[in-house]
Amino acid sequence: MTTTAVRTTAAAPSAPAVRIRSLRRRYGAVVALDGVDLDFGAGTFTAVMGPSGSGKSTLLQCAAGLERPGSGTVTVDGVGLGGLSERRLTLLRRERIGFVFQSFNLLPSLTAAQNVALPLRLAGRRPSRAAAREALERVGLAERARHRPSQLSGGQQQRVALARALITSPAVLFADEPTGALDTTTSRQVLSLLRELVDGEGQTTVMVTHDPVAASYADRVVFLVDGRVGGELTAPSAERVAAHLTELEGAPC
Ligand code: ADP
Repeated sequence: MTTTAVRTTAAAPSAPAVRIRSLRRRYGAVVALDGVDLDFGAGTFTAVMGPSGSGKSTLLQCAAGLERPGSGTVTVDGVGLGGLSERRLTLLRRERIGFVFQSFNLLPSLTAAQNVALPLRLAGRRPSRAAAREALERVGLAERARHRPSQLSGGQQQRVALARALITSPAVLFADEPTGALDTTTSRQVLSLLRELVDGEGQTTVMVTHDPVAASYADRVVFLVDGRVGGELTAPSAERVAAHLTELEGAPC
């Protein structure tokens, strides 16, 4: 005779991929972050916007463990970054956090496949050719594996950078102005790809952008003002984002 266990437990709400609490960071007398509380839900796409100097890059750098905050906490995938030694922080960054920049930061002497495999090499793993190829396939560039960055367009280089950021299957991908150096058409291709990675693979993504159209690809837009969260929009349209930004930029300091 068999007994059947009946599961009655309701699924627990999934913990955010990134949790930020009371985050503060100053540079001398300049307060870059002034008490930021934010959650980035697993499998969601968030855009971070705000006037120049509002703290967007500092937020991303602190959330990605590239900079230490003055105070407050950042938790990525359940691990508090504050308690980690430099070594453990570096390891966590390599394994659990992806980062793409406006300037693609590819190594010019390496092929696309070698650039993509770099994080695995840095982590002491011997990357298989298949792993790099698979990562390039995810960004639609498998046939360019042997090309060097100079043989690729800007949009293709950013897609290689994306494949490199994603090869370790990070808990979160941070993108700082990823389309800032791209023309309109190529930007849209990269943004569509980011959206597909969120929808198809549940890739948690946080992107800083100045562009309301880019922000409209996200599920949510968080606005920073003077180092604080100054509002947010869900299911953003480019028009609503632009209107909100105009309001913020026109507001007296
Ligand atoms: P944003 O990305 O929104 O333009 P930042 O995070 O780059 O804003 O900067 C927030 C504030 O912190 C600005 O006043 C900026 O000048 C200052 N800041 C940022 N990084 C540094 C740094 N390394 N040294 C000194 N000041 C900095």
